[in-house]
Amino acid sequence: MKIVDTHAHLHFRQFKDDVESLVKKFDSHGIEFVVNVGIDVIDSAESLVLARKFQKIYCSIGIHPHEASRVGRDYIEKLREMAADPKVVALGEMGLDYFRNFSEKADQIEVFKRQLILAKELDLPVIIHIREAYEDAYEILSEIGLPNAGGVVHAFSADTQWALKFVELGLFIGIGGPLTYPKNVVLRNVVQAIGTENIVTETDCPYLPPQQFRGKRNEPSYVRFVINEISQILKEDPSEISEKLVQNAKELFGL
Ligand SMILES: [Zn+2]
Repeated sequence: MKIVDTHAHLHFRQFKDDVESLVKKFDSHGIEFVVNVGIDVIDSAESLVLARKFQKIYCSIGIHPHEASRVGRDYIEKLREMAADPKVVALGEMGLDYFRNFSEKADQIEVFKRQLILAKELDLPVIIHIREAYEDAYEILSEIGLPNAGGVVHAFSADTQWALKFVELGLFIGIGGPLTYPKNVVLRNVVQAIGTENIVTETDCPYLPPQQFRGKRNEPSYVRFVINEISQILKEDPSEISEKLVQNAKELFGL
C-alpha cells in the first residue's frame, strides 16, 4: 500500500535519536513522501534542513497560531526568503487556535492573514490549523481567498457541515489518527459524507497516534491505520483508496 503523510514534525525532539532509521524504512513502508511542517521561523528553518537532507521529505514553513504573539517584525520576509528553496512545497501551519489561546486572538488573526496573503503571492498551498475557531477561520479564508494552489485543513475536527463548507472553498480535509478513536463518530461521518475526493492523509506526528498506539509516539507509517479505517467506512478496497489519496496529496503539493 502506498501512503503519504501530509503533516509530520520529524524535526521535533521526539525523533532526535532515530529519524535516520525511520527515513530508511520509508520505502519498505510504502511511503511516497512526507511533508514536514514548521511552526515558527526558527523551527521552519530546522524543518527545511531535514527536508534538504532526505529525498522523500518536503517542507512547509509557517507560524503556528500558538506562536503568533511571539513573531519578530520581519517574519514575512524570512518566510519569503526560505520559500525560494525548491524543497518548500507549502506555507503553514497557520491558522487559529481558540482552544488553547497561547497567543492573543488579535495576533493570531493578523499573523494568519499575512501568511495567507504571502501564500497567494507565492502561489503555494496552505496548511491550516483550526481549533475551536472554525467560524473565524472560515470568514478570513472567504475574505482573503486561497492561493490557486489551494490548501488543507489539517487535523480536521469539526462536523460534516463545516467540512463541506471548507471543501467548497477549495480545501482538502486532512484526516489522521483521531479517525480511529472509537468515540469519534463525528469524524467518521465526515469521511462518509465527503468520500476520498477531498481528503488527504496525515499524522501530525509525534502527536495524535491512531488508537493502536495511543499514549505513544506517532510516526508516518501509521497512516496505514487511517487508510484502513477510511476503507472500512467507505467499504472500498484499501489499496484503491490509498492510490487515490496519494494522488490527492501529489496534486495538492504539485509533486
Ligand atoms: Zn502540526
